[in-house]
This record gives sequence, structure tokens and C-alpha cells, in this order.
Amino acid sequence: MLADVLGRPLRNLRLSVTDRCNLRCEYCMPEEEYGWLPREDLLHFEEISSLVDIFIAQGVDRIRLTGGEPLLRRDLATLVGMVAAKPGLNDLALTTNGVLLAEQIDALAAAGLRRITVSLDTLHADRFKALTRADELARVHEGLAAARRVFPAHFKIDTVVIKGVNDDELADLIEYGKTMGAEVRFIEYMDVGGATKWGPERVVSRADILDRLSARYGAIAPVIEHSSAPADRYTLPDGTIFGIISSTTQPFCSSCDRSRLTADGMWYLCLYATQGLDLRAALRNGASTGDLASMIRSGWQQRTDRGAEDRLALGDRRAFVSMNSLKKDPHLEMHTRGG
Ligand code: SAM
Repeated sequence: MLADVLGRPLRNLRLSVTDRCNLRCEYCMPEEEYGWLPREDLLHFEEISSLVDIFIAQGVDRIRLTGGEPLLRRDLATLVGMVAAKPGLNDLALTTNGVLLAEQIDALAAAGLRRITVSLDTLHADRFKALTRADELARVHEGLAAARRVFPAHFKIDTVVIKGVNDDELADLIEYGKTMGAEVRFIEYMDVGGATKWGPERVVSRADILDRLSARYGAIAPVIEHSSAPADRYTLPDGTIFGIISSTTQPFCSSCDRSRLTADGMWYLCLYATQGLDLRAALRNGASTGDLASMIRSGWQQRTDRGAEDRLALGDRRAFVSMNSLKKDPHLEMHTRGG
């Protein structure tokens, strides 16, 4: 097994297929203008497929397609088909904002997609519009209904919780999840690159979320499980399960087996890493499969990143990357790196 300096295996790969997005969520893409990855730099499906083969040979067995908004990548189902067919892959999932989901979900499922997570931060159309700068909640609901139909047992809803924005909707979202048969996961607002409006006063912590939900539902029990999944899971008295991803106040770096490949082939070993490994350049300069495998192996073997814990250790915490640096290198943005 390939392990990093801290003994963490290489297992989960987040594959970003585009840096473009059709929403402008305040916590991810709040600015008016963005610089995009040059089109000619984007990996072709054959290039992604070759890299995925090499990652699988090094131990990756779970892949999540993300972005930007992955459904904006043309012919995504073709890529899903190529990746789903790989021997050795135990999981192939997709994270989407849901806007284009209803029209694509059947093709994605037929191509071999196994699980889906839809981001949904509010049930109110006016809030949705203010938070995302797009009047698309109705289409997201169509996408959610489609997810319920096509992936009934493999469907999650992710909600970034922001104080004063949607923290009064925790129970409403849980109730909505129940009607949809979806597990809801609350994500603490993170100070990732691109979250230029982040401030500690806007974070609703895991402890806070649990307090509020137990005031409404009664005793909440943790689900005891050993997993490297980012969410800690809990059970309500009626058996409903929900999750909390507390990367901001209680990071899970010690079990993090995730790495990220951007749409233009940069490989990042941590969401907070400032440097990545340029696999596209190596691939396009003629590196052999063996050369690429060695790059990946030695990159992972030298990995010491504990980005979220390093952030937590800082006393005075503000937005992670300055606007100036983001303008110089879009790879520092969450929407480029793939959330
Ligand atoms: N467009 C897709 C979507 O909306 O799910 C996939 C990409 S998006 C970057 C992936 C996830 O990152 C979403 O669930 C989003 O809510 C989350 N995210 C983005 N910025 C965040 C932040 N500052 N804190 C916590 N989660 C964030």
C-alpha cells in the first residue's frame, strides 16, 4: 500500500472536470470577474483516463467527479463510462449543484455513475438567488427529484452553513432530506482559496449545529464507524441519519486519503496546498506510464500536508489566499481545485 509520511494511504481522488460554474455561490465564487484555465490546457478524456489508470494502479479505488460544475463539461457521460469501466475502482460518485442534473442523470447512470451528491444550501428561492446570483432553485429541485428517482439509496445533500444566511434552516433541510430519502450533510464554512468573504464569525461550528438540532429533536447519537469519509454521522431519535463535515473547527487531516486533480492536470495533495504537481506537462512531454507512476508515488510518499489543522492552529484567522494571489494563479481557487 502506498502511504504518505504520516501513514495515510492514497485512496480517494477528486477529479475536477472543469473550472467553470453556472452559479456564483457567495462562499466559493463571490467575485465579479474570474480568469479561467486556458481551454487548450484542459485534459482530454483519453488523458484523464490514462492518468486514472495510473492512479488506480497506485491504490486509488474511489473517484468523485467535481468542478467547477461538472455537468458543464461536454459529454460528461462519456467520461463516466470510461472511468466506470476500470477494474479496481470501487466507487464513482459526482458532486453537482443540480441545475443541469435532471437532463443528464439518465445518461450518467447508464454510463455507470454509482452515487450522487447535490449541493443545496437553502429551501428559499429568494435566498438561493441572493446566495448564488442565479434564479435556479426550481431547476435544482428538478435535479433533486431526478436524483431521488435514479439513485434512491445513493443520494446525499450537502449544505454549507453560514451564520445569518441559512443557519435557521438546519431542521428544515433535515426534514426535506427525509422526504427525499437523502442523507443531509452540513459543511462548516471553510476558509479555502476563493472564499474571500470568509470570516470566523460566519462559521457555524459542528458543536453549534449539534446543539441546535438536539434542542429541536432531542438526544442525538453519533454513529460509530471507522472510515476516512469527511463527514461524522449522527442519528436523530427517529433514526434519521445526517452528517457534519467540520473541516474548520475539527479537521480530519489525520485520516485524509484525498488528493485532487484539476481539469488541466495539476495534482494537489491537500485542499490548502499552494503547490501542485503538473501531470499534464509530464504527460504531454511524453512521460511514460512508469514515469508518471513514479511521480505520483514519490509525490504521495513525501506528503506531510495537514492543511486544515495548520489553519486551525493559527490564532487570528482570515481568508486564506489574497485576491492578488488568486488573480495570479486560479489553481488556488476552490472551484478550480474541485471541492
Ligand atoms: N459545483 C458542484 C457543487 O456545487 O457541488 C461541485 C463543486 S463545489 C466547489 C463542491 C463543494 O464545495 C460544494 O458542496 C460546495 O458547497 C463546497 N464549498 C465551496 N466553497 C466552500 C467553502 N468556502 N466552505 C465549505 N464548502 C465549500
